[in-house]
Amino acid sequence: MRALHIACSLMAACFGLQGCGGTAFTLPPVSEKEALLAAQEVEADPDLPQFPRGRTYYQEAIDRIDIKLTQHVGPICARAETDKCRFIFHYVADDEVNAFTDEGGHIYLHRGLLDYLESDEEIAAAMAHEMGHQIAGHVEESKSSILLGALIGGLLMGGAAVAGGATQEDADQMANQGMGLGAQIGMLSFSKEQEREADLLAAYVLARAGIDLERAGGTFEVLAKLDGKTWASWKDTHPAGPERIVAWRKAIAEVEASSDRLPVMAAP
Ligand SMILES: [Zn+2]
Repeated sequence: MRALHIACSLMAACFGLQGCGGTAFTLPPVSEKEALLAAQEVEADPDLPQFPRGRTYYQEAIDRIDIKLTQHVGPICARAETDKCRFIFHYVADDEVNAFTDEGGHIYLHRGLLDYLESDEEIAAAMAHEMGHQIAGHVEESKSSILLGALIGGLLMGGAAVAGGATQEDADQMANQGMGLGAQIGMLSFSKEQEREADLLAAYVLARAGIDLERAGGTFEVLAKLDGKTWASWKDTHPAGPERIVAWRKAIAEVEASSDRLPVMAAP
């Protein structure tokens, strides 16, 4: 148990440091007071309707939004100095309220999430958010966190077992458990800052594609309302809903004031 605790706190420190590296782009600041006001707005209107549509509808919506978004995203990828500017969207026909992205530009949208998104603009916001993770290189960062977590977890658990006088076989088994634990913690460490950065990039991606940012922002209200429910990984890995609502509004103002419609790099 003790070894487990040590492993957790050390890994938290590693990921913390990595997270402290900051984001590549300047994020709009959100105060606690602003987040609190937004939370009150959400509470005042708790209605959370669903708009279930069929596979064909979702597939066609994803395809037409895909064309719009990817046609105009090039300059943002260039600003981010990434060659990861190819996106492959997948519709996942299950009830999980989730969307996620993986290596190779693959982006998965679950029906469970889409059912809550009323319009093309709102679906586009979810798609652009995942594109933001790709553009900012979060997938690679997260994978290296997972690997690092697995390595440290494995070393610590195996080492603790040997120190505790365990047989080599037991120590190996504990090392394996430790690696699994480390990988899991790494998985949860898509940091709040990375999520905020993905939202900011999404605002620019949508604006360049001519998509109405106010309407797209409905997605963040849905997510804030879903926050109170039990649902998939977004709840654990993403910033609190009201904070994202405020950040989104600020991102809209920033995009509108921007002359080149490109996100601003953070100071090195
Ligand atoms: Zn995300």
